[in-house]
Amino acid sequence: MTGVVNIAIFGATGSIGQNTLDVIARHPGRFAVFALAAHRNVSVLKQQCLQFSPRYAALADEHAAAQLRDELRTAGCKTEVLAGMAALNELAAHPDVHSVMAAIVGAAGLGSTLAAARAGKRILLANKESLVMSGQLFLNAVREGNAQLLPIDSEHNAIFQCMPDPRVASGSESGNRLAGIKRLVLTASGGPFLRTAAADLADITPEQACAHPRWIMGRKISVDSATLMNKGLELIEASLLFSMPPAQIDVLIHPQSIVHSLVEYVDGSMLAQLSNPDMRTPIAFALGWPSRIDAGVEFLDLARLSRLEFESPDEVRFPCLRLARQAAACGRSAPAALNAANEAAVAAFLDGQLRFTEIAAVIDAVLQAHTVLPLDSLDAVIKVDAWAREHAMHVMREAGKVS
Ligand code: NAD
Ligand code: MG
Repeated sequence: MTGVVNIAIFGATGSIGQNTLDVIARHPGRFAVFALAAHRNVSVLKQQCLQFSPRYAALADEHAAAQLRDELRTAGCKTEVLAGMAALNELAAHPDVHSVMAAIVGAAGLGSTLAAARAGKRILLANKESLVMSGQLFLNAVREGNAQLLPIDSEHNAIFQCMPDPRVASGSESGNRLAGIKRLVLTASGGPFLRTAAADLADITPEQACAHPRWIMGRKISVDSATLMNKGLELIEASLLFSMPPAQIDVLIHPQSIVHSLVEYVDGSMLAQLSNPDMRTPIAFALGWPSRIDAGVEFLDLARLSRLEFESPDEVRFPCLRLARQAAACGRSAPAALNAANEAAVAAFLDGQLRFTEIAAVIDAVLQAHTVLPLDSLDAVIKVDAWAREHAMHVMREAGKVS
């Protein structure tokens, strides 16, 4: 690779965004921060602008953007501040951007991630929800835009590393057979409630659900990890990224979070990627690909770890995994409905309106009421997303949970 690589980070103020900047700061001659975008966190984005001097900063919230513009001007920072979601989406397609870190949480990341795909960028995909909801449409945009898709989710990054050649979004079921790939195994830490009795799950608070034993992450993905919906979304993500039927993807609980996923081959071999649970490893892998670069991560001391454990997930205590598997098998609009219902239910749980165990019940009710349709346009995706959110609210209102 020659010259400095221009990076745009969407979701810059979040956990993945901050880890990305940490890796970039270790390689000043190699990467330049071209744009930083987020929702409305003025203080963190301001500090990032002062440290990295991007050409652009963008906030989806217009009032927050105006405040950031004032504060940066007063501080003598030359970064140009843009406001609103449309500006964010335009930035993702800017001709001077080489790589886009797609790390906005939830469906809100769909517009910028799709814009980057259509504009032929290298997409470092953390925002799994955008892929889950738009599925094949998103992969078609990647192919038609001649974009490159590199997974940031640690499991998918691990699988990518264990594949015989780069095959994200370019693979096919017959290609997998030719390469002798039999099965993918996604590992899951099991979250904070791996050993919690079923009867105690109903009283879990948002604070307990967000206290993950292995990973420090944003609140939404922390709740998803606690319900195992995160693994369900990842199953759909893996099926799309690696052209693998959902029935050939298994989930294995691995509480130490050292083995990040595995690929099984027809000769009986299993290849795994191991590293400490630190998102800077997959981020550095994708930033530098095909080269390997320093991530600032502590190296593994296997003798000190001594034990790696594996067990099957309990889909009775964690029904979200089963619901995601159903949606994956059903395909078409079912994953989009699942994702939107989950976002609505998790938001209500984080607001203290819904019990932890009611999250799955809301999603189940939405999936049962959903008429599955083919997703042939972005409009269709947005309609299903809106319907599922509204239906989830309706279910929660009927149950007296939200007003
Ligand atoms: P986070 O909550 O820490 O950060 C979310 C970011 O998205 C923030 O910068 C926020 O400003 C931005 N954002 C939220 N709503 C927005 C909107 N409407 N418009 C513009 N920006 C908006 O979340 P995170 O943990 O960094 O996760 C980000 C994504 O990465 C998620 O999709 C998550 O599933 C995925 N991911 C995260 C991890 C992890 O370790 N944190 C691991 C794998 C995948
Ligand atoms: Mg993951």
